[in-house]
Amino acid sequence: MAERGTSQRIGAGWARVRGMLRAEVGESAYTSWIKPVTLIGIDGGVVRVAVPTRFMRDWIMGHYAERLRELWTEEDETISALEVAVQAEPGGEELDPIEPAAAAVAKVAVAAAEATVGESDAIGAPLDPRFVFENFVVGKPNELAYAAARRVADSQSASYNPLFLYGGVGLGKTHLMHAIAWHIRTRHPDRKVEYLSAEKFMYHFIRALRFQNTMAFKERFRSVDVLMIDDVQFINGKESTQEEFFHTFNDLVDNNRQVVVSADKSPSDLEGMEERLRSRLGWGLVADIHATTYELRLGILQSKAERLGVAIPAKVLEFLAHKITASVRELEGALNRVVAHATLVGRDITLESCQDVLHDLLRAHDRRVTIEEIQKRVAEHFNIRIADMHSARRSRAVARPRQVAMYLSKQLTARSLPEIGRKFGGRDHTTVMHAVRKVDELRHADVSFDEDVELLRRMLEG
Ligand code: ADP
Ligand code: MG
Repeated sequence: MAERGTSQRIGAGWARVRGMLRAEVGESAYTSWIKPVTLIGIDGGVVRVAVPTRFMRDWIMGHYAERLRELWTEEDETISALEVAVQAEPGGEELDPIEPAAAAVAKVAVAAAEATVGESDAIGAPLDPRFVFENFVVGKPNELAYAAARRVADSQSASYNPLFLYGGVGLGKTHLMHAIAWHIRTRHPDRKVEYLSAEKFMYHFIRALRFQNTMAFKERFRSVDVLMIDDVQFINGKESTQEEFFHTFNDLVDNNRQVVVSADKSPSDLEGMEERLRSRLGWGLVADIHATTYELRLGILQSKAERLGVAIPAKVLEFLAHKITASVRELEGALNRVVAHATLVGRDITLESCQDVLHDLLRAHDRRVTIEEIQKRVAEHFNIRIADMHSARRSRAVARPRQVAMYLSKQLTARSLPEIGRKFGGRDHTTVMHAVRKVDELRHADVSFDEDVELLRRMLEG
């Protein structure tokens, strides 16, 4: 039974890993390279997979092995390496008989620096080598979070405690936390940094509770200078557990240990969490990462294209920045797909090829929301008539909601400024531009307005 459960779990993990990669590389690359890969098993932190030919093995090693290994590590933190073997027939037992077994197996392992993250007792998770400050593009939506993260990374003692980073999925929380860890690791190697997911933290914590050695648990974390816990929205559960967590947390802060936590919501919005803990989490600096703007998305694409070392026409980058708005993760996935496709077919990247490769994604986006829908929702939200979206009335009570609707139309649809203007009673594109700027400005100046807009955006997207 137990064994069956394990292999089912591994099977499900493998399906998720493949699913992620599929989204990243696109359908054709997936079918050519990833689909034929079979999972042999997991043993001692090593994932073993097999492919039918040597050529495929080499191609996978050159293009996908590192990413496969990373995705596996995200599934299961104990995984540190991936081995690709050649099996003449998929699912067969024998290795390619022409080659000595050892040579037929290629292996990609976590870089040494990563492997040491957890140090002796390896509670911490490995760090992604790409998640460093140098690769983080700063813009209005994330400048506060970035500045706070830098401060924490640079200072020798606890600065804001805790630093609470929050924002929607794929906006860079984990990236910033890893960047803090890398920075300290290289600049202040004497300081001890630990990064782990809230789930992992709770897992160890509950185990300590069960075995009645919370003292050892606390001691263990007390020896850490900077403790980072990712995705704390997953901390919930029994009051007694939260109580203990609360004390451990206080203990760390009292002992001047820097704590950094992230969540997808603000502290006060964390559900299933005790009031006292919630408010405690909000004591330090709460830095939110806003939804990306067009400028930030374009900046990220440019930086990423540069790092990939591929020439991508500005038009294509602008197109992607306009179209893929949900998260940076999705944006990166789209870019990777476009690049992978061009590499495979050996042709230049053009607007047409890009639209072609991403047609499924783009369709999904276009379907997502229409200007009419946005107008309806926004009107409902602010309690004005839909007709006022088109009307010439200029009183603040209708003008502001109208600006919000224009702003969201720019953010959530692929319509151009003149097109949007037309849908709003034939207004000029400069009016729309002004609205977008104004709303951007207000979002930064006024927290409750910002939350309102964010809420609307999420409702429309969801
Ligand atoms: P979150 O933890 O908030 O869900 P991640 O930190 O995992 O998001 O970010 C998702 C992806 O987007 C990562 O690959 C990350 O490197 C990238 N990313 C997010 N924000 C930025 C940014 N400002 N500059 C560069 N890359 C970014
Ligand atoms: Mg994350």
